[in-house]
Amino acid sequence: MEVDKSLQRIARIAQQLQPAQNSFRRDSHEIEGGIEGMPTLGVGLPALEIEKAFPQATPATTFPPAVSDYFQLDDLLSEEELATRNRVRRFMEAEVAPIIAKYWERAEFPFELIPRFATLNISGGTIKGYGCPGMSILSSALAAAEIARVDASCSTFMLVHTCLGMLTIGMLASEEQKKTLLPPLARLDHVACWGLTEPEYGSDASSLNTTATKVDGGWLIKGQKRWIGNATFADILVIFARNMQTNQINGFIVRKGAKGLKATKIENKIGLRCVQNGDILLDNVFVADEDRIANINSFQDTNKVLAVSRVMVAWQPIGIAMGVYDVCHRYLKERKQFGAPLTAFQLNQEKLVRMLGHIQSMWLMGWRLCKLYDAGKMTPGHASLTKAHNTKVAREVCALGRELLGGNGILSDFNVAKAFCDLEPIYTYEGTYEVNSLVTAREVTGIASIKPPVSSRTKRS
Ligand SMILES: Cc1cc2nc3c(=O)[nH]c(=O)nc-3n(C[C@H](O)[C@H](O)[C@H](O)COP(=O)(O)OP(=O)(O)OC[C@H]3O[C@@H](n4cnc5c(N)ncnc54)[C@H](O)[C@@H]3O)c2cc1C
Repeated sequence: MEVDKSLQRIARIAQQLQPAQNSFRRDSHEIEGGIEGMPTLGVGLPALEIEKAFPQATPATTFPPAVSDYFQLDDLLSEEELATRNRVRRFMEAEVAPIIAKYWERAEFPFELIPRFATLNISGGTIKGYGCPGMSILSSALAAAEIARVDASCSTFMLVHTCLGMLTIGMLASEEQKKTLLPPLARLDHVACWGLTEPEYGSDASSLNTTATKVDGGWLIKGQKRWIGNATFADILVIFARNMQTNQINGFIVRKGAKGLKATKIENKIGLRCVQNGDILLDNVFVADEDRIANINSFQDTNKVLAVSRVMVAWQPIGIAMGVYDVCHRYLKERKQFGAPLTAFQLNQEKLVRMLGHIQSMWLMGWRLCKLYDAGKMTPGHASLTKAHNTKVAREVCALGRELLGGNGILSDFNVAKAFCDLEPIYTYEGTYEVNSLVTAREVTGIASIKPPVSSRTKRS
């Protein structure tokens, strides 16, 4: 009897609740009903697609036309360079722009794009032969910038794969190693990563702790790496370790699935969110003799690769800034305030022109860097100054773009917020702004100041 009464009481309460639920549903339905085509949800407001929530301006899924070539810099490009640039631009606008913000939000890598990137024929960049495209350094740099114009994560993915992983093999491996490793990397059947940085050694990378101990038929690699792009899914891991016989830095090919190898994704990044940066644990991973990269005998050899890849990194901020400018240029014309398009306000115009000026200067510096490289006259200081300068200036371009878009400047939908965040890790990787400045300073002053002077306490001991 008691149970029956309880059930009746519950049924009464449920009945009383019913109208309240219905009216809540009706209210939310009425609100949704004002927007054509929106799905009806039982509870709460649905998330609106940005086109519907904010019809005054076009989001970056439809990427704006490229309009930053104010000084007609295209005149400085060869037909081959223009063709590469245009091919990559078309691809990025048509296939990447419509989908990439969602991947960025979820911090996921767009694996579906890897075979599409393969069709661009840019993987392997400047490397000649072995299925690689053998592009000019400027073509390769333009491709990096065009990818970054739409999405810096994709640009970093290709940079790590091509200009660090593949280039190390292309510049420093034996003929046999190149023949085996490069063709599948060029086809993007395999993906490469490049592990130098460690938890304890970032800017001071040459002090690295990871060890390579000689054993019968190969080497045992033991240590940790941090921040390694593509690490969680790379097939080929180029790993730098200290040879315990010579105390010098050597390079090794570690293959996906090797016993003792573990790569864990670094979570919670605010920039380059699609890039899968990993912490790598190497617990006595065996590497056969034939997988020791033949011509890496000291950190000086590693630096040869960094000098070239830094040229590419110097072009990433150019592309990012171009994309931000293009979005702002369109947005300011589309959105009106005080009865006039945002472009009509003097303060906005000054910001737009400041951004445009920065892009011309960054581009010209990047272009000249490539010409110095081709002429065999590029020094490490040239590459470092361009990387440092461009990331610093592009930071201002992104900050101005963020201001110009008002509230939408903090939404990934309009690209600028994404670009703003993506530039931060680029300011830091491949040598921070400060360390690159000091590399150039060493050349122009003749005084090296990267390592601090030995303290008096250390001197005494
Ligand atoms: C998103 C991302 C991707 C990366 N991808 C890779 C990768 O694929 N492979 C890889 O090997 N590494 C990678 N890195 C590592 C990157 O190269 C390092 O983060 C970078 O070298 C800086 O090292 P750190 O972060 O340890 O900073 P630290 O070296 O700890 O520097 C901290 C601060 O101190 C300053 N500083 C340090 N030394 C000096 C000095 N001598 N003089 C003046 N200032 C100094 C720096 O400029 C910086 O401002 C990546 C990093 C990031 C964030």
